[in-house]
Amino acid sequence: MTGKQSQKDQAASRGALYRLHRPQTFAEVAGQDAVVGALRQAVASDRAGHAYLFTGPRGTGKTSTARILAKALNCPKRKQGEPCGRCDVCTAIERGSFLDLIEIDAASNRGIDEIRELRGGVAIAPTSGQRKVYLIDEVHMLTKEAWGALLKTLEEPPSFVTFILATTEPGKVPATISSRCQRFDFRPATPQALTDRLAAVAKVEKLAVEPEALEVVARAARGSFRDALSMLDTLAATGGKISAATAREALGIAGGGHLDALEQALTARDLAAALAAVDAAAHAGVAADVFRIALVERLRGRLHALAAGQDGVWQADDLVRALKLLLAAGDWTKDSPLPELPLELVLVEFIGTSDAGAVAPDAPSKPPAVTADPAPVQPSVAPEKPAQKPAAFSGTKPAGPPPKNAQEAKSIPRNAQELWEKLLTATKDRYSLSVCLQKTRPVGLKGSELSLSVQSEFFLQKLDAQATREAVETELKQLAGKDLALKLQLAEPSEDLFEDALKTFEGAEVQQ
Ligand SMILES: [Zn+2]
Repeated sequence: MTGKQSQKDQAASRGALYRLHRPQTFAEVAGQDAVVGALRQAVASDRAGHAYLFTGPRGTGKTSTARILAKALNCPKRKQGEPCGRCDVCTAIERGSFLDLIEIDAASNRGIDEIRELRGGVAIAPTSGQRKVYLIDEVHMLTKEAWGALLKTLEEPPSFVTFILATTEPGKVPATISSRCQRFDFRPATPQALTDRLAAVAKVEKLAVEPEALEVVARAARGSFRDALSMLDTLAATGGKISAATAREALGIAGGGHLDALEQALTARDLAAALAAVDAAAHAGVAADVFRIALVERLRGRLHALAAGQDGVWQADDLVRALKLLLAAGDWTKDSPLPELPLELVLVEFIGTSDAGAVAPDAPSKPPAVTADPAPVQPSVAPEKPAQKPAAFSGTKPAGPPPKNAQEAKSIPRNAQELWEKLLTATKDRYSLSVCLQKTRPVGLKGSELSLSVQSEFFLQKLDAQATREAVETELKQLAGKDLALKLQLAEPSEDLFEDALKTFEGAEVQQ
């Protein structure tokens, strides 16, 4: 359990530099000149809109810019649209204690309750500022009912209210909503903008860093300020001067040899060894997402070597498939109940389905259709494409095959089956949770307990982890209208409910 604990601590401390060094004025927002210029101008000329939609990959400054806009709209001492940064309003927003800035994280509060509350509160005039600002982050995660309620509010907003909706997936925002918003697209940061920002932060933090080390980090961060600063955090924790070699070692050979072990396991299609390498890296203090990025860097290097005719270990299509899965997993980290889960799911998907002969034709979790696009991987644009998500896991239908025979169908209570199907549909956009739930089958619904049979020890452990269990039980409460506890049991080996491909996985020793 200590491994899990240290991973949790790691996740908690990760991103500290990003939070500490959020830009506080429009001028400080790096790499988004067009967006911030337009916003500042709108505030300066008193023509700010009532509803904004901020889109762009994670870590590009959407939330920070939204907070700056809230400041600019409320700061009594603003100059040419730029907040002063010193008055009560500006400092309260920086501390997160300004009553007229209401932030809702739709990734964790997806529901109707929050939006109803919002609708109730929206008519009440601002308490201390001039404008009440509602910031809804990850807005694409809202439920259908919540969208309906939000739309009613957007149709007739009180004159003193500004809505800022932020999303990494604008394609999932209903047109009725987006058409009522002014849209601003945030671009992935250029390596130069990332290097500059890292250098500025390193200077303030008095970190001794070789300029070349910053370039290594900037390249690995693929357009995300958050990723760049979280990697700098990891490097700073090692103490001493950060050289390019240290950076490469920490990011590229994360945790000393664990990356070698992981790569070896991947080429050998050894799932148990791959998961053990992830666990060992976590024990060594490498955050799961940093380890994932390190693997991306490693495999990119392999791809380039292969293109130059040098590498004999990897096949090109395997490399492309692994890279696409790894890059897509970057978008799942935010809504993953467990930090290590996205990387682990990539490994399960890659190794579990790469043995083509083991996949039944009607297997519910068929390999993602990555071969359809053999174009060279462009890491900097990958997070923008929702289509990168493997098709296998994004279907709206429950993934499982129908029960094998009539007797079995009869043994599953109808209400359990229905609730389970609703649960799969409700969680289908939360990739890592969705994948875990697809590895379950309903067993029964008794009193306040939903029993699920889980395909393998690995998924049982993941669903049984407190964070996952809470996420599932929160969904269940929304769906059933009452508290429901989750009861998990390992499926009998004879239960032929799951695809053969994951048989490989049944034998895997998962070390936690
Ligand atoms: Zn101010």
